[in-house]
Amino acid sequence: MKNRVSWLICMAFLTLILAGIVVSRIESRDEIIFGGAEGAYVQTDTYQYKDPNATPEVVEVDDGWPEIDITQAQYRMVNDQTEFLLPSSFEPVCGLIDGTKFMMFDIDALPYLNAMLHAAEEAGFTPYIAASYRTYSYQTQMFNAKTSSIAWDEFGITDYLDPSYQKAAEKARKIVMYPGSSEHQLGLAVDIWDRQRNQTVPYENMNQEFFTWLDEHCAEYGFIKRYPTRKLLLTGWDEPWHYRYVGVEAAKYVMEKGICYEEFYKHYMPDFKY
Ligand SMILES: [Zn+2]
Repeated sequence: MKNRVSWLICMAFLTLILAGIVVSRIESRDEIIFGGAEGAYVQTDTYQYKDPNATPEVVEVDDGWPEIDITQAQYRMVNDQTEFLLPSSFEPVCGLIDGTKFMMFDIDALPYLNAMLHAAEEAGFTPYIAASYRTYSYQTQMFNAKTSSIAWDEFGITDYLDPSYQKAAEKARKIVMYPGSSEHQLGLAVDIWDRQRNQTVPYENMNQEFFTWLDEHCAEYGFIKRYPTRKLLLTGWDEPWHYRYVGVEAAKYVMEKGICYEEFYKHYMPDFKY
């Protein structure tokens, strides 16, 4: 009898521990948001990993800031704060990227992108442009599609007048860039990876030699790694395959100092908040 009681107590205790593990797993899984085609294939700005325990990494830099005019078009800050949204009418003059059938890029920055792609080829890689210039209406379609799928999957609704639809839109905002807030509309950003290797998330499974090469050389062509994982809490995005043209001077400073563009921009625009 005594044995049986202690066995029961023991089992109850084990069940509690197991339940605790399951609950904590479910909670931590909620913190990880996978986007794209349900996280299987990353095409655009659709993959985000949020680590609630990470602390912002702020690098102290106080030397050698380039003397630039931050109000020039190539430095334009774009994000989902109202004053940094691009209007729907914003359409850059674009040209076709070398080696692609329909990928467009800002005409003034295009020679720099083409030069970077050719240099990558010479270094033995096969760079693949997964996304470049995107129109406001295309970004809107992507955003609406993500909102609809969340509205259906999580709230079981299809009616956009339903109050819960707004909640779905708020969730979508963390996965797909809100219309007007994508640098792809600016015409100065590309999502790029190596065609030879696995193109699916996580990033670590993609060809890291290619990204190492790109991170070492992109600034020579005026590009920065715009949303590196380690800067997630400052930029709001984890999109390590997204490169943005800002010109050689700014790019060299950003990449050499290991800062993100928000930190760079704020030096010239002290009132800027991020
Ligand atoms: Zn992108």
